[in-house]
Amino acid sequence: MAESVVPEVVVQEAQKLPRTKPLYYDDPYQARFKSNVLRAIEFKTKTYLVLKETCFFPEGGGQPGDKGSIILGTQRFKVSDVQSVGEVTVHVLDGLKGVLTEGQNVEEEVDWVRRYAHMKQHTGSHIVFSSIRQVLGLRKLQYMGVQLGSDISHIDISYGEAIDSEQTHEIEKLANQICMKNIPVRISWSTREEAERLYGDRLGITDVTPYGNVRVVEVEDCDVALCCGTHVKSTAECTPIKMLGRERLQKGVERVEFTAGQEAYAIYDKSMSMLEQMAKLLQVPTSEIYRKTSALISERAALQDGIRDLKIRLAESEALEMLKKAEAIGEFKIVVKLLPSLPVDGLKRIASTITRSDSCAIVMLASGDGKGFLVGAAGEMALKGGIDMGRILKEVAERFGGRGGGATKIAQAGGIPTERMQRALDEGLQRINEVLRQKSK
Ligand SMILES: [Zn+2]
Repeated sequence: MAESVVPEVVVQEAQKLPRTKPLYYDDPYQARFKSNVLRAIEFKTKTYLVLKETCFFPEGGGQPGDKGSIILGTQRFKVSDVQSVGEVTVHVLDGLKGVLTEGQNVEEEVDWVRRYAHMKQHTGSHIVFSSIRQVLGLRKLQYMGVQLGSDISHIDISYGEAIDSEQTHEIEKLANQICMKNIPVRISWSTREEAERLYGDRLGITDVTPYGNVRVVEVEDCDVALCCGTHVKSTAECTPIKMLGRERLQKGVERVEFTAGQEAYAIYDKSMSMLEQMAKLLQVPTSEIYRKTSALISERAALQDGIRDLKIRLAESEALEMLKKAEAIGEFKIVVKLLPSLPVDGLKRIASTITRSDSCAIVMLASGDGKGFLVGAAGEMALKGGIDMGRILKEVAERFGGRGGGATKIAQAGGIPTERMQRALDEGLQRINEVLRQKSK
């Protein structure tokens, strides 16, 4: 806004000057013009230049101020920003002490690529707004804010629900249809009262819309708004339009992001290149990418299941081998082992296999991958020998910061930090030994 960008001392000087003639209203496509210096106000490191007329658009209505050059003879000076002070347009230039003076003839040159991008984004905002209203089936919708950029823009609308992805897709489709219809954008001057009488709710005006003279921008049979920005002549120039996202700003206000023209094309182009690369990688046509990727994901899941099953089988056979060499206390055989990366149901399966294979077996297994857990099982004879796996695992888990329990025959514990798993196993083994020795006395 002018107050925050233009220093107060410059504002006071500029306010004394006559209104700058805005050429961008008569012809927004005019990027060069010969003008005359009305004042060059120097302040600190900048020169604030006021011309008799200008084709530079000053920041306003969510559209950024133009950039470009002021040409004096063979010299060219960069315009870094353009702001309004009332009806006076101020061109901001760096330095230039004593270079620009009243009465000099200069040439203005707007950075046309940037301005034209703003014109497309701006007209695009009208098209997107109209498409939102049509897709959501709303007769009345209000602008709550708009910010245009060269590459990405957003409009904030009065809407109490989240616009879902299906609706966003429909909005984008309709916006592009409007572009492709090559609809003229008509500009006229009226009063707010007259415009309201003609267009009613379609104007989307708010409490802050000024009374008196207003500029009516109409996209035939599609959108009409009161607007002071620069627009293209036809919707075709905004092609294509790409919706980029949405977010809820506050209750009842949705922000919708989009882009139009070259920037939107760049997104489609990048997406297509990515799809073509993926198709090449997957060795299928682009139309088959989804089917092929889904098949690969299912295949991967099946392979992972297979690998997990193989790991369990391998561990089972290793465990049975261990049983042969297991530590024996009297008639009992004890298998204690850390088996990282096996899931809890895998440990249970191994423990059951061992206790089924030998009724004197006592098993305690741990997995240390991610969340640490313990599984314990005891064969029929071991149970008769006084082993209660539920109690042993409960006590061990509580000692090492976890929780556990279960039946005397099979139990499990979890929540033990992985770095403490080996110590938990040692503790479990010691308790099993104590029970068996107590019993044998
Ligand atoms: Zn506009």
